[in-house]
Amino acid sequence: LITFDQVVKRFGDLTVLDHLDFSVAPGERVTLIGPSGSGKTTILRLLMTLERVTEGTIMVEGEPFSHMPRGDRLVPANEAYLSARRKRIGMVFQQFNLFPNMTVRKNLTEAPVHVLKLSRAEADARAEELLELVGLSDKIDAHPTQLSGGQQQRVAIARALAMRPEILLLDEVTSALDPELVAGVLDVLRTIAETTDITMLCVTHEMGFARDVSHRVLMFDEGRIAEEGTPDEIFGDPREERTKSFLKSVL
Ligand code: ATP
Repeated sequence: LITFDQVVKRFGDLTVLDHLDFSVAPGERVTLIGPSGSGKTTILRLLMTLERVTEGTIMVEGEPFSHMPRGDRLVPANEAYLSARRKRIGMVFQQFNLFPNMTVRKNLTEAPVHVLKLSRAEADARAEELLELVGLSDKIDAHPTQLSGGQQQRVAIARALAMRPEILLLDEVTSALDPELVAGVLDVLRTIAETTDITMLCVTHEMGFARDVSHRVLMFDEGRIAEEGTPDEIFGDPREERTKSFLKSVL
C-alpha cells in the first residue's frame, strides 16, 4: 500500500532520512520507534504531504505521492495533485489541533461535508457513530475547551476517521497528555486496531501499546532503519546494539 523507495529528506545540510526503503501492506499496523531526531515524524509528515522528499519516491496504492506523472516522466507534484491524494490519509498529532471555535459535531462533520460532499445527515450519522467508538457520545455539542486533553485527543482520532481514510498516521498522540489520560486514548486506538482493517503507521514511545497492536516494528536511527521485526523480536530479542540501548532508555 505504501512504498518508500530510496527516500532522502534533507533540511539544509541536515540529512534526516538517508535513502530509506520500506513498504507497508494493506491493513498492516507498523510502529516506528527510535531516538529523538531519528526521522520518524518526518516520515509521517512526508506521507501527509506536509513535507516534500528531497530525493526518491513515495508510492501509495501504486501512485506516486511525491511526484506526479506528466507524459512519460514524473515531475514534483503540485498542490491539487497532493490534496487529492491526501484525502486517503488521516493524521493525528501530538497536539490535538481541534478547531477551537467549533463544537465537537462541527469538528467531525466539516471536512466530510465540504471535502467528501456528504450530506449533513450522513455526516452527522457518521459523527455519532465515531463518537460512540471513542466513548464520547455525550460530548457532541461541547466545545473543545470544555474537554480534557484525553477527550480532545479522542475527538481528534474520531475526526481523522470521519474522512474514512485508508491509512491512519499517529504521531506521538499521547505524548502531550497527563499520565492518567493516556490509557483511555490507547484503549480507543486498540479498539480501532481490533475492529477495523485500517492501515496504521504509528510513532510512539508507548512500548506496551506498540507491542499489543503492531504487526511490525521499525527501529530508526539517524534516518535509517537500524532493525525491523515483529514486536516479539524487537522487544523480546533485539539483535542490534542500538535497539538494545534505545529500549533500555525507554523501558
Ligand atoms: P522526535 O521523537 O523528537 O519527534 P523524530 O524521530 O520524529 O524525533 P523528526 O521530527 O523526524 O525526528 O526530526 C528529525 C530531524 O529533522 C531533527 O533533527 C529535526 O530537528 C529536523 N527537522 C525536522 N523538521 C525540520 C524542519 N522543518 N526544518 C529543519 N529541521 C527539521
